[in-house]
Amino acid sequence: MDDFKDKMKKPKKSMIFYYLIVIVLVLVLNYFIRPWINELGIRTVNYSEFLSELNGGKVNEVEVAEEYIYYNLKEGTGTYKTLKVDDLTLVDKLTSAGVTFKAVHTQRESSILSLLLGYLVPIGIFWFIGSRLSKTITGGLGGSNPMMSFGKSNAKRYIPSQTGIKFSDVAGEDEAKELMTELVDYLHNPKKYSEIGAKMPKGALLVGPPGTGKTLLAKAVAGEANVPFFSIAGSEFVEMFVGMGASKVRDLFDEAEKNAPCIVFIDEIDTIGKKRDGTGLTGSNDEREQTLNQLLTEMDGFDSSKGVLILAATNRPDSLDPALLRPGRFDRRIPVELPDLKGREEILKVHAKNVKCRPGINFNAIAKASAGASGADLANMINEAALHAVRLGKHAIDQSDIEESVDVVLAGYKKKNEILTEKEKMIVAYHEIGHALVAAKQTNSAPVTKITIIPRTSGALGFTMQVDDEEKNLMSKEELQNKITTLCGGRAAEDVVFGSITTGAANDIEQATKIARAMISTYGMSDKFGMVSLQTVTNQYLGGDVQNACAPDTAKEIDDLVVETINGSYEKAKGILKDNMSKLHELAKFLYEQETITGEQFMNILESPVAIYGEA
Ligand code: ADP
Ligand code: MG
Ligand code: ZN
Repeated sequence: MDDFKDKMKKPKKSMIFYYLIVIVLVLVLNYFIRPWINELGIRTVNYSEFLSELNGGKVNEVEVAEEYIYYNLKEGTGTYKTLKVDDLTLVDKLTSAGVTFKAVHTQRESSILSLLLGYLVPIGIFWFIGSRLSKTITGGLGGSNPMMSFGKSNAKRYIPSQTGIKFSDVAGEDEAKELMTELVDYLHNPKKYSEIGAKMPKGALLVGPPGTGKTLLAKAVAGEANVPFFSIAGSEFVEMFVGMGASKVRDLFDEAEKNAPCIVFIDEIDTIGKKRDGTGLTGSNDEREQTLNQLLTEMDGFDSSKGVLILAATNRPDSLDPALLRPGRFDRRIPVELPDLKGREEILKVHAKNVKCRPGINFNAIAKASAGASGADLANMINEAALHAVRLGKHAIDQSDIEESVDVVLAGYKKKNEILTEKEKMIVAYHEIGHALVAAKQTNSAPVTKITIIPRTSGALGFTMQVDDEEKNLMSKEELQNKITTLCGGRAAEDVVFGSITTGAANDIEQATKIARAMISTYGMSDKFGMVSLQTVTNQYLGGDVQNACAPDTAKEIDDLVVETINGSYEKAKGILKDNMSKLHELAKFLYEQETITGEQFMNILESPVAIYGEA
């Protein structure tokens, strides 16, 4: 609300503050420099030498100051000084020598020159420091006036040769790369899009766990697009001076607009983009909100046709202010998830290129042993392996060095992130195949497109993706029942294979219950109640609060019916799995090893008459 007023006022305040500091410093320096300039060219002599020259009648004029006696000679130029001693007969001596003399204050009178120099030198020093600072701050862009560019955004300008990173340096992450390629293409040929009337998203948000290559991807986009790249970390906006963050945002966008087409990259955007709580209790919070408001304002003012692409990265998307994710802002989300087996192998190979390796290293085996590792972990592994090789006096890395480093890196990693154990991974594999198999064996359920047991940013340990061939606006009773049965498939698989169940089905249970309840009380699909509305949903836009609109007795009957429906579906799911036990084992094993499989791979195995996946 009042961010407009603030953005006008606060930065000015801090500029005045800066000028005041400079003025005070100039005065202080002047105080020290002036006497020093005054003394320039003055030679210091002994008191005895002064006396002998006085007696010899060579002295012309004398000035007696508090500490020193200054004098010059009748012949020759230059001023001399000597430390004053306690000489009570000095006046007599001076009088008898017949020189003109006078007492002066602490210092000799300053000449115009020293006055000028006293101010010019400190100002010169500040001008020099200022211009140096502004050069490093703005990276040589603009900033002709050093004072004015103080506090400009320190967005570094990357030119392509500087990032030098291409998509080929980013291994795996094919989906993210594909999405980014379109953005690069747009920066290259905006015409192609504008001719049809297509608008590119203004901003794209890279989302994923730490170390998965988000920053790397952004740099690669800059390298590929061959356009200027402004990169700044969210934390750099939060400054010591109030209002600085907002002014930095403005400068950054000004600069970007001048250099369009270009890319603006805000790394770790969660530091400024956290949800606003509106209390503003602490000062820094207030500052952060102002910065965020400014960012939102700037993004709204931007037109994507100007050719400025705004990228941001975060590993905590859920903590972001919803306003940032609104259409017209960071409306495109690019997930950058932990790499699967194939991805890990590729990342290892990319990094192995930078070190000397013995030929014939089995990267696949190493990738298998490093489940749960991020790209950064894998890069670290190769480096640890190189260090290990050096320690042993080898000239190149071999298999054993990398195997050793996997343990070193993952041991630390496991403690930090509690990645899945082998046994847990196996359970998750069966769970997900359970969903997929139950879905596939029922008619009227959407085909499986992807199954993965790579933990997601959302916290899910795995997931099975089903996508309908066409968009559905209506769901039949059978389809809903099938959906509930599919949701039961995960837990059912755990049950039939391991004979024990886990907490992994919590989300499935919640969804299944919701659907079952809605079938009875909202969609009128139960034989018992028929077309009677038994629930009202309020607050539709805030997630929906469900309220019973029935007598307590009826509510109990609904509950019983929900339990009955779900239990029935659960038994049905178990039945389907028991009828397909060999396929369940085969598929789960395949998924366990591949970590991510496509719907096509799934269907191939499911439909093949004999096991196409051999013994381990
Ligand atoms: P994030 O920004 O997601 O936390 P970074 O982009 O900073 O992660 O990645 C850190 C390092 O890990 C990179 O510099 C790179 O060496 C390595 N790395 C991460 N992901 C990949 C990948 N997909 N391909 C190649 N290297 C990667
Ligand atoms: Mg990063
Ligand atoms: Zn599940």
